[in-house]
Amino acid sequence: MNFAELKGTDERLKCMDSLKEDFSERANRNNDSGEFPFQNFDDLKRTGYTALTVSQEYGGKEISLYELVRLQEKIAEGDGSTALGIGWHMGIIKNLSEKRLWDESLFQFLCEEVKKGAIINAAATEPGTGSPTRGGKPQTTAEKQGQTWTINGRKTFTTLAPVLDFFIVTATLKESEEIANFLIPRSASGLRIEETWDSISMRGTGSHDLILENVIVEDQFLVEKLGKSGQRANGWLLHIPACYLGIAQAAQSHAIKFSQSYSPNSIDGSIIDLPNVRQKIGEIELELMRSRHFLYSVAKLWDESDENKRNGLLPELGAVKHAVTNSAIKAVDLAMRVVGARSLSAKSPLQRYYRDVRAGLHNPPMDDMTINLLAQHAIQVQKK
Ligand SMILES: Cc1cc2nc3c(=O)[nH]c(=O)nc-3n(C[C@H](O)[C@H](O)[C@H](O)COP(=O)(O)OP(=O)(O)OC[C@H]3O[C@@H](n4cnc5c(N)ncnc54)[C@H](O)[C@@H]3O)c2cc1C
Repeated sequence: MNFAELKGTDERLKCMDSLKEDFSERANRNNDSGEFPFQNFDDLKRTGYTALTVSQEYGGKEISLYELVRLQEKIAEGDGSTALGIGWHMGIIKNLSEKRLWDESLFQFLCEEVKKGAIINAAATEPGTGSPTRGGKPQTTAEKQGQTWTINGRKTFTTLAPVLDFFIVTATLKESEEIANFLIPRSASGLRIEETWDSISMRGTGSHDLILENVIVEDQFLVEKLGKSGQRANGWLLHIPACYLGIAQAAQSHAIKFSQSYSPNSIDGSIIDLPNVRQKIGEIELELMRSRHFLYSVAKLWDESDENKRNGLLPELGAVKHAVTNSAIKAVDLAMRVVGARSLSAKSPLQRYYRDVRAGLHNPPMDDMTINLLAQHAIQVQKK
């Protein structure tokens, strides 16, 4: 099975359906042991999934945002941690393919590496800044010495740390106080991972600390200076709501299967026929259906727009993340109410969905920032 050889979205979605089953089987076991889901990542690489967003110019499929969110949603139905983790990688490559922010030869080099199975993610969060979306200045520093940069600092929440081949590290340039992104290979001397990830949510993301001690990189690995062009619209971040929608859909599916088979002796048949149960299943469906339509339509809007129009989609992109993530939390809660106390059993996948889905609140953009942006947008529209 190779994703790149399949024709179109439908075939690739079908292919992901079968991988999803494997991820789902492994999810509880990995979650209990706290192990990183290495096997899932081997599968994603082996099947060519991890190269699907590479640009066509460099031999990739450059799949649409719509297709990406559909595929990511399916991965999350099997295992939320795997979906969030690979979503960063897929999205970063998609974003670079679309915006060409880096020197072209370096980008081409990265594409070749990704086609060989390399995995990348951004390490932006730090203990002293909190979420980088709040505008904090990195305490990680980069100092120029001749034609090289020396980088020192600590990053937290470095998702996929156990399998990353490349890290995009934000740092403050000592000489100018500007903020820049550096591309750093795992093999760089002075780079190490400290296994700090003890979260009860998204346990399998391996979001450990990245330590940089006198890491030296060539000048060309300063790939991008940040902060000059204002806030950019980032369609690729829709992999985040897709992840939480997928988790909620898995919760819905579990609740329905449970209700079809659970038959206490106070009733004839199973609880699926009870009005109180059907009410909740209907409410879950309302949340999920609304989320799917909102997510897919904004992803398609992104795909159909030119760069100029895409920048105008900032309010929509934030609104989708806010709406879908909060709906997913509500849907998982309702699914647990359908199942009752058994949903709290350590053996039930619902308690994992419950913990995992909460992480969405702490992925960007944050809810309060989105609401603020929407208020600004509404006021501006009114003025016109
Ligand atoms: C599962 C998971 C995976 C992640 N993966 C990555 C990754 O791969 N790479 C990466 O770089 N990061 C990653 N992150 C980190 C993420 O992007 C956030 O930086 C992190 O979750 C911290 O966000 P926060 O809102 O809790 O933190 P903080 O910004 O510290 O905020 C804590 C609280 O303080 C308040 N607050 C703080 N500052 C302000 C302010 N200026 N204005 C208003 N309120 C404020 C808010 O109410 C907030 O709730 C990941 C996070 C999670 C949960």
